[in-house]
Amino acid sequence: VALVHYPVIDRSRDVVTTAITNIDLHDISRSAHTYGFEHVYIVHPIAAQRELAERVRTHWIDGSGAKRIPDRRAPMETLAIVNTLEDALREHGRGETSELWVTSASVAPNVVEHAAGCELLAGEGPPVLLAFGTGWGLADSVFGAAHVRLAPILSPRGDGYNHLSVRAAAAIIFDRLLGRR
Ligand code: SAM
Repeated sequence: VALVHYPVIDRSRDVVTTAITNIDLHDISRSAHTYGFEHVYIVHPIAAQRELAERVRTHWIDGSGAKRIPDRRAPMETLAIVNTLEDALREHGRGETSELWVTSASVAPNVVEHAAGCELLAGEGPPVLLAFGTGWGLADSVFGAAHVRLAPILSPRGDGYNHLSVRAAAAIIFDRLLGRR
């Protein structure tokens, strides 16, 4: 899993860098660990932000957080804090090219349905890095580099409102790709 803070877009679709949200680190690492993902790459180009994420991670692995709530240690150990999405793809591939899968609330042509994504992951293949955006979503350059764009989680509402928090979207997609029935 990769939680991308750059390149993402803002409401005017300008490419921006967002700040790390502490609850994202806890929530997404717990969900990812639950579903058996190896790592959650926190992608941030600003060193001070990466240091903040590293401090949170250390607190819950070696610090008082780990003593108070030992169950948080394992998920937080899956956090890997990196500079760029390319670093995450390289690290995750361990010499092999990882496949980049992307997610979005928007409909688009040639998306892979979640059930098909589940089948793909069940079979043989290269390591897969599943990227989630922040802000108003992943930048176009990330979609352009992706091997797979997963279908959006759709809403039964008449107005189709489906803008989920990244935490909620990640948990739903994890369950659809890897959940046990
Ligand atoms: N500040 C927001 C927050 O607190 O979560 C960040 C929103 S961010 C754009 C939401 C991310 O979650 C998207 O980039 C996408 O990766 C995922 N997402 C949100 N809604 C989704 C949906 N309906 N289907 C698939 N992915 C979705």
